[in-house]
Amino acid sequence: MIIASNLTKQFGKLSALDNVSVNFTKGECIALMGPNGSGKTTLIKCILGMVVPDSGFITFNDKNILHNWQYRQHIGYMPQIGRYPENMTIGQVISMIKDIRSAYNKSFDEELIESFGLNEILKKRMRTLSGGTRQKVSASLAFLFHSDVLILDEPTAGLDPVASEILKEKIKTKIKNGKLVIITSHILSDLDELATQVIYMQDGKLRFHKNINELRNETGQQKLAKAIVSLMHNHSA
Ligand code: ADP
Ligand code: MG
Repeated sequence: MIIASNLTKQFGKLSALDNVSVNFTKGECIALMGPNGSGKTTLIKCILGMVVPDSGFITFNDKNILHNWQYRQHIGYMPQIGRYPENMTIGQVISMIKDIRSAYNKSFDEELIESFGLNEILKKRMRTLSGGTRQKVSASLAFLFHSDVLILDEPTAGLDPVASEILKEKIKTKIKNGKLVIITSHILSDLDELATQVIYMQDGKLRFHKNINELRNETGQQKLAKAIVSLMHNHSA
């Protein structure tokens, strides 16, 4: 569904992506992991067309995404840091995003708006929101359009435990329904019950891309965090 081939991206002297190739297919939940600064967000932004790689290319359903922005209608995106017009209310932001996508979407999935309780605070202005509530708005917007692909950048960061569970259940339903979900997180425990594949990045390089069962069998560890530590240890030994 999404293929990235030999992506590189430099910011000055810093190599944010160093010859990264990945292949994502429907029905998978990809855990994109790695320490802060390893290039996860940059890779995601390349897929979204928000960062243009210096070299390499990306295809979405076999079409090069360059100058072909229509593919974005199939993606629901939750940014790591959601930036919104701060004077607008939650309700206005939701309507605005619906308007923007109205050419492609007539029906909306408002389940998260409901279960996060945003309906009760639609009149609150964005600038008054706590980090967690802002994340709830971002998550609700990402899931609003029944998208085939969901790209979630650190979705549970700042969410309270209840909200985090609600979001995880929602993600699980999407995977069951054959959508593609890509999640970055440096909190590995969040991804234990969701991921079907694991990608580990470090210093802009893709260290490995494995099926979760393969990873667990190979390391003898059930928990993602332990499995990765074990694998990295064996790699460097
Ligand atoms: P991650 O999401 O894994 O924490 P990022 O992809 O955000 O990592 O960043 C990878 C590296 O690229 C970091 O060192 C970051 O500081 C740098 N970087 C990212 N975006 C920019 C930018 N727009 N300008 C300069 N440096 C950037
Ligand atoms: Mg990031």
